[in-house]
Amino acid sequence: MSQPLLEVRDATAQYGAFQALFGVSFTLHAADVLAIVGANGAGKSTLLKTITGLLPARDASVTFAGQDLSGLRPEMIHRKGIAMVPEGRRLFASLTVEENLQIGALGARTGPWSLEQVYDLFPDLAAKRRNLGTALSGGQQQMVAVGRALMSNPRLLLCDELSLGLSPKVVHDIYAALPQIRAHGTALIIVEQDVHRAKASADRILCMQDGRVTLEGAADALSLDRIAEAYFGTEEAA
Ligand code: ATP
Repeated sequence: MSQPLLEVRDATAQYGAFQALFGVSFTLHAADVLAIVGANGAGKSTLLKTITGLLPARDASVTFAGQDLSGLRPEMIHRKGIAMVPEGRRLFASLTVEENLQIGALGARTGPWSLEQVYDLFPDLAAKRRNLGTALSGGQQQMVAVGRALMSNPRLLLCDELSLGLSPKVVHDIYAALPQIRAHGTALIIVEQDVHRAKASADRILCMQDGRVTLEGAADALSLDRIAEAYFGTEEAA
């Protein structure tokens, strides 16, 4: 098999005296979709922060496109092609939709994503381009957050709980965009609490509990029962 796009080995993370990750390892190949599932507090967001450099990788090794990311600041990691859609969207309240998207293009790599491509992906946003980001519905704000991350032309897009606080219809619309993102050659890691959605949207599933990987495998090879057991129970990593 080809070299992985992302390889995380032995990630640990600490908040003061509290250890949030215990030796998490996984690999991701180019244009694959990995869903990280697990209950509140399992360590999913912490794992994303370790990949993006927001938390020190400590003794972990994080290799992206063959390059070691250890010690790199978040903005350098971003420039190498890892972008994040943060939990809670974090739009700039005083800026319009288009200005929020343009912020994502600052220091961008070259690649397929432009304003027009983002508006093609989320047509609702084109009509709202002059509106303030905060004047939008929650779903439209989430689309802006995804679009802003895409404007940097990432090779890997990390999405932290895209569905949070959104109606099922809106969540469906946002997830419907993921295959198009992937078709542009972008790999995705999605943090998702809904196991059904994770299984339907991802190639691989990584299940976490209390800072550890309890199950990892191809989405279509893992039964819902097995994932549920790893989500809540004591199953060992496969
Ligand atoms: P959620 O779905 O609730 O966001 P999660 O799986 O993303 O859950 P994390 O946010 O990574 O979980 O949190 C993992 C553990 O680390 C939890 O016990 C949480 O309380 C703790 N934690 C997270 N952020 C901090 C912080 N800034 N300071 C102290 N503890 C933290």
